[in-house]
Parts: sequence; structure tokens; C-alpha cells
Amino acid sequence: GPDSYLTLPDLIAQVEAGHKAINIELSTTETYRDVVPERVAGNRLSGFVSIMRGCNNFCHYCIVPYTRGRERSRDVESILTEVRDLEKRGYKEVTLLGQNVNSYGKGLEEQVDFSDLLNLLCTVPGDYHIRFMTSHPKDLSDELIDVMAHSKHILPQFHLPVQHGNDEILRRMNRHYNRAQYLDRVRKLREAIPAIGLTTDIIVGFPGETEADFRESCDFLKQIGFLKVHVFPYSRRSGTPAYDFPDQVHEREKQARSREMNA
Ligand code: SF4
Repeated sequence: GPDSYLTLPDLIAQVEAGHKAINIELSTTETYRDVVPERVAGNRLSGFVSIMRGCNNFCHYCIVPYTRGRERSRDVESILTEVRDLEKRGYKEVTLLGQNVNSYGKGLEEQVDFSDLLNLLCTVPGDYHIRFMTSHPKDLSDELIDVMAHSKHILPQFHLPVQHGNDEILRRMNRHYNRAQYLDRVRKLREAIPAIGLTTDIIVGFPGETEADFRESCDFLKQIGFLKVHVFPYSRRSGTPAYDFPDQVHEREKQARSREMNA
């Protein structure tokens, strides 16, 4: 498994000694800090840079915090080195990746958050754009919006997963925001960056979702007017709290709601 790359010498030694060697464990601490990826020859347009891994949010439908562990961030210098390298090679776009990029910096020795990181990255000279994903609405700060509004490198695009448009379902999902708070972030983004293109993820058929809740979710999408929406029928993952919720929505109904929302 990719997370066990540091044990490769040991695994190879075991094979050379005539044994089977396998390690497919997902690490809860690995950040790939010192690994600068080989870039695919021919693609000189878009490069992906991982800035943090793991998640502390425990949304009730999601397995990530259990398999990927808690949030840990790469230090600023290693990220800067990778972005400078991409710029030098002629890349035009850098996408910063993390399960929740908005909480970048927690646990690092240096006092730095995601808006500080973006400010620093924007000092890398050159003709390139920056994008990032994914962002949790509850961690989207005014400072981040301000940095975006004043940067010539960061694209006016924001992927902000809403997941549902009904407050009770959001609470049951353990998302830690409600419709009003989400709308407030959208309003702030649009005020500061009028050209912003908003995209989102949304789940249909979460346990307990009634027809009325579903309608409310559809109406919320219309109200906001996203540039693009990724609709996901709720997928039951064992090991997550929602797996055991009693009021599961029938698969057929989930698919029908998904089709309708997409339409
Ligand atoms: Fe974390 Fe995103 Fe999963 Fe929620 S959905 S637990 S924020 S990775």
C-alpha cells in the first residue's frame, strides 16, 4: 500500500530472504512530507499538491477519520518547495489538496493557518493559478475570503460541500453548521469576490430524509445557484454512526431522488 512506502527496504529484504511481504495498512500519521512526485511527462498544465491529510470532523456518514486518522499538516517549507518546483517546470495551475484544507496548520509548530499558507504561496513569482479542495463550511474564515479577494493567483472558484439543505439532517450528519450559517459564508464570498464560481457536493437519501426534507434540499440548491453540483445517493458505510441509524431510505428511493436532483 502507498502509505507503507517507508517500509519498502524491509519488505524487499523479506522477499529476498524468501518470505512473502505485504503491508497495505493505511497510516494515521503519514504526510508524504519529503516526497516530491514525479510529474507525468506531457502534462505541464496542472499539478496537485497535498498539504494535509486526515480529518477530525467525524461526519456521521464518513469513514475517512477512521481510516486516514486525525488531521496533520505538511510544514510550509516543504509545500513552498513543491510549488516553486512546479512553477519552475512551467505548470500553470496548482491544486492544493486535503480532506479539510480550511483547518490547515493545526498541530504544526509554526503558527500558521490556511490563509497564511495561501498568502505565502502567492509570493512565489510566476504566471500560475492556485485552486484548493476540499473546504469545510464551518472552517471557512473571513481571513481566507480576504486573501482570495486580493490575490492574483487564486482562482475565483470555491468548492464548498453543503451536503444537505435541511437543518435537522445537517445535525444528524454531524456537520456543525446550519442553512443560515452556510448562506452567510456564501453571501460573504459573493460580496468579496463577485465573479466567484461556487460548486458543491450534496447527499440525497441520508437516513431519516423525508420527501419534504428532500424538497428543502432541492430548493436550497436553487436558492444558491451553484455553478456545479455533485449529487451522491447516501452510501451506507459500516463502521460509521449513520450505518446503524434505523430509518434508512430504500435504495430505489435514493436513486430516484438522485436522478431528480440532478435533473
Ligand atoms: Fe471529514 Fe469530509 Fe469525511 Fe466530514 S466528509 S468526516 S469533513 S473527510
